[in-house]
Amino acid sequence: MSDQEENGGWGLETQAIRTGHVRTHEQEHGEPIFPTSSFVYGSAAEAARKFCGEEAGNVYSRFTNPTVDTFQKRLAAMEGGERCIATSSGMSAILSTVLALLEAGDEIVASRSLFGSTVSLFDKYLGKFGITTHYVELSNLEAWEAAITPRTRLLFAETPSNPLSEIVDISALADIAHRHGAWLAIDNCFLTPALQRPLELGADLIIHSATKYLDGQGRAIGGAVVGPDKELEALFGVVRTCGPCLSPFNAWIFTKGLETLRLRMNAHCENAQLMAEWLDSHPAVRKVHYCGLPDHPQHELARRQQKAYGAVLGFEVDGGRTAAWSVIDATRILSITGNLGDVKTTITHPGTTTHGRLSDEQKAAAGISEGLIRIAVGLEDLDDLKADLSRGLDSLRSP
Ligand SMILES: *Cc1c(COP(=O)(O)O)cnc(C)c1O
Repeated sequence: MSDQEENGGWGLETQAIRTGHVRTHEQEHGEPIFPTSSFVYGSAAEAARKFCGEEAGNVYSRFTNPTVDTFQKRLAAMEGGERCIATSSGMSAILSTVLALLEAGDEIVASRSLFGSTVSLFDKYLGKFGITTHYVELSNLEAWEAAITPRTRLLFAETPSNPLSEIVDISALADIAHRHGAWLAIDNCFLTPALQRPLELGADLIIHSATKYLDGQGRAIGGAVVGPDKELEALFGVVRTCGPCLSPFNAWIFTKGLETLRLRMNAHCENAQLMAEWLDSHPAVRKVHYCGLPDHPQHELARRQQKAYGAVLGFEVDGGRTAAWSVIDATRILSITGNLGDVKTTITHPGTTTHGRLSDEQKAAAGISEGLIRIAVGLEDLDDLKADLSRGLDSLRSP
């Protein structure tokens, strides 16, 4: 049995801790970092063979690096994919995917509720090169199908969405994509393979911003794509030639992050569920958007498709921007920042930050109201987090 077959049979926690490290002659126990830009050869003939690809092996760290390789193998195993290519950021993971698979004249269908920079990448930059993107409501399968044309090559979605926790049925969307000869890419940043495995549900490609939960402690920027060998070989060509490669040091951080991913995600979700229930019962909160609440319109689908509900939630207060800002500004523990996927709980006002560039009509269509607050629930003591939010929320009730 090859190593790969053996790893395929392992459970997620074993893969997270054991896959991908090839011990060197030093017999190290922890995964080493190889901070080297190039690699040397025993002879001119060996150099020639490696340069032309006749012999496998490291040449230059823009192409391959053993520390990056450990991270790639580990994440590929955890997502159940044939191969993973790591990138310098989540955005360059998306860019590299498009450069590898699409051509001028091709079209993308994407959900309207995407990470803001993804929308800018599609519209402002891919648009320049003749690739057009059509946006549809994430959960509306008929709208996805209706937006497909003979030029559509890629369907792209994030599920659950940020910050309203909408869900799309990944299997059904994969069927639609495949009926029309397109790939389905799922940005799995919010749930990670610990909670959702899109390839098993029929998706073709998984995109990660490793910056978020894969790291889990807000230390480094990085990304990855997981999928079949054929497509990933094309992607590897883009990364080695165009250069958005992951640094060995960041790869090492993410590798160590994966080791505790399941534990952290379970703890994040537990805190988030209790936080959502508490907010839902708070008199100053008009509505909570979290797919773990039984009254969420796609709660049943989320339960089927996901192992848990994630740790990003939105809630609305009466009183618009002034009220929302006052709740945010009254916090002393929560960090006011647009980032997420950190052990530290973060709070942000989407309407003026992450979604600030949208027009009023676009915000209305995306459900981004002025009273909406997003929190990405971290791992602090839940009672402390509630007390921190109560300060602002309670003062909304007694003006
Ligand atoms: C952060 C994020 C990205 C972009 O990742 P970077 O690492 O910041 O480049 C893409 N998709 C989602 C869902 C994200 O949250």
